[in-house]
Amino acid sequence: MTYFILFFFGLAVGSFLNVVSLRYEPGRKLLDLKIIGGRSRCPHCRETLKWYELIPLLSFIIQKGRCRNCGKRLSLQYPLVEFLSGLIFVFVPFVSVNSLQFIIYNQFLQFLVIGSWLLIFILFLLLSIIDFHHYIIPDLINLVLGSLGIILIALNQKIGNFGFITGSFLGHYAAIFGFRESIWLNHFFAAFLGMAFFGLVIILTRGRAMGWGDFKLVGALGLIFGWPDIIMIIALSFIIGSIFVAPLLIKGRKNMKDAVPFGPFMIMASVLVFFIGFQMIDSYFKLFGIIR
Ligand SMILES: [Zn+2]
Repeated sequence: MTYFILFFFGLAVGSFLNVVSLRYEPGRKLLDLKIIGGRSRCPHCRETLKWYELIPLLSFIIQKGRCRNCGKRLSLQYPLVEFLSGLIFVFVPFVSVNSLQFIIYNQFLQFLVIGSWLLIFILFLLLSIIDFHHYIIPDLINLVLGSLGIILIALNQKIGNFGFITGSFLGHYAAIFGFRESIWLNHFFAAFLGMAFFGLVIILTRGRAMGWGDFKLVGALGLIFGWPDIIMIIALSFIIGSIFVAPLLIKGRKNMKDAVPFGPFMIMASVLVFFIGFQMIDSYFKLFGIIR
């Protein structure tokens, strides 16, 4: 029942994310109240939408993805983002509570940890949409993500969710990579290492593969996920990136000079590490063992 309510709350947040991301323009403030505050209109005929045309998911399904006034197709982004946001509100609290393995005796701290992760995932979604449309990651999003990373460091230290086999999404495999004496040192080292690596790539490729927005994002992700999780995120983002870019290159629709937003790949990698990081590294090591 709780998850049912969370799902619907997530749908509503998703519909807000659609508004923020679709009205965003580079160079403009992300949360400009004058822009966000106005009534929603059809992007084709500018007709103001009625309340029953603004129900998340349902309106889109009932109207078969078309505007009631002009009949033109509406972007699939609307239901997709609403649905993803709904899933975030169901699965992020679920995973935070059940698989982070920390002993929760303080309900308030538990609430703060789950809330921080929810905010992080909502910002992940917003960042991906904006980077996808505009090839830009707003500084404000990176800044808030980094701050949430620092808040999580403090919370996890208080809870005691950091040690040789705790505090990493890679479980006990994290111990192999060391650096587990201090959570502060660990997470700041991860941020520094990620930024040093991305900085080098940006300078060597003259910014063709990624930009300084990605550089700031990897720093924020380092603060949030720590070491060695950040290595897995970086490696996965390059793998996911090449899977998406290879078909475009073969079809000749993009060449290396065209920008491909790298942010969404890093977000996908982070989401994978959060949900199945341990399972991925576990099966990798087991496969490695069998081959040897
Ligand atoms: Zn219309």
